[in-house]
Amino acid sequence: MNAGTLLAALRRPLTTAALVAFGAVAAEAQVFHARDLNTEQYKRIDRAKTVVIIPLGVLEEHGPYLPADTDGYIAEHVAREVAAAVARKGYTALMFPFVPLGTDAMNEVPGRRPWPGSFVIRSQTFRAMLMDLVTNIAEAGFRKVFVSNGHGAPTNVRMLTQVCAYFNETYDDGYMAVLGGFLGPRVQSPEAAKLQQEAAGLLSPEAKREQGGHADIDETSIMLFLQPHLVDPGYLEAPENTWGMMDSESWLGYLGTPKYATAQIGALRLKARCETAVAQVCAVLDGAVPKPGPIPPTSDASIDAPHKAILAHDIELEKKQQEWIAKKGLK
Ligand SMILES: [Zn+2]
Repeated sequence: MNAGTLLAALRRPLTTAALVAFGAVAAEAQVFHARDLNTEQYKRIDRAKTVVIIPLGVLEEHGPYLPADTDGYIAEHVAREVAAAVARKGYTALMFPFVPLGTDAMNEVPGRRPWPGSFVIRSQTFRAMLMDLVTNIAEAGFRKVFVSNGHGAPTNVRMLTQVCAYFNETYDDGYMAVLGGFLGPRVQSPEAAKLQQEAAGLLSPEAKREQGGHADIDETSIMLFLQPHLVDPGYLEAPENTWGMMDSESWLGYLGTPKYATAQIGALRLKARCETAVAQVCAVLDGAVPKPGPIPPTSDASIDAPHKAILAHDIELEKKQQEWIAKKGLK
């Protein structure tokens, strides 16, 4: 298969016709969108055979070449692939609308806020919002919940871990995990490993050396594949940005060297993420992985100084809001 054909094949979305045709083969195998169902349809869903999928990202600056919702585009794509795989296994996938909320943007690490394109919420708000949502999902009778997450910031991941643990420890027959390569059951996907290896083979030694971790080769490549019209062509001239530059005026908001990105690398890396997520969900549905045990208290030493400063900023914000509410006598 040449590169063009590969890209076309990987980009092709799952059509409604394909789902309907598949539904005819496997009864009950379907993808429902939570926003579209009425009360009667909700009543009819077989809870025991349903998997809830929540695509999650955050509007966060991704430098001058990528859109603020880069994490969301990736999370939604993975969520759609997971939903299709769930349906293929004879389960119903109940897809929630994309939640564009998260905490801990990259520009906050050097304490630089506001930054164009970053719209975060406090970590405690983020955790409470998700705990409320999954409590409602559980009370509606659903027991398997997977979050397709695109935002790998440490505080965001810590809060997500806590929400999963809350769900898993509160509902004995519940299983909640985060997919998308950051968290979730440890499941090896040989296919994903092969795709990652293939993608790595396309990187020059310089590109390998200059991988940075935010809006870099990985995310730029995936967006060149997924939403090429949203990638500013300036990425082809993008200079390397390092962690050491984050305090300087010359820092552009990304880490790494996006100029090495290609759509072909993106296609392979995104497919690898999907394969991993699908393998994780299938392993849970097959009962092949144990439910995670209780989580320990957060160790203060596990949070670095920049992220402690972000938490302190969160507390300041909360104080300001609460003072205003109290002053106005609002309930
Ligand atoms: Zn990102």
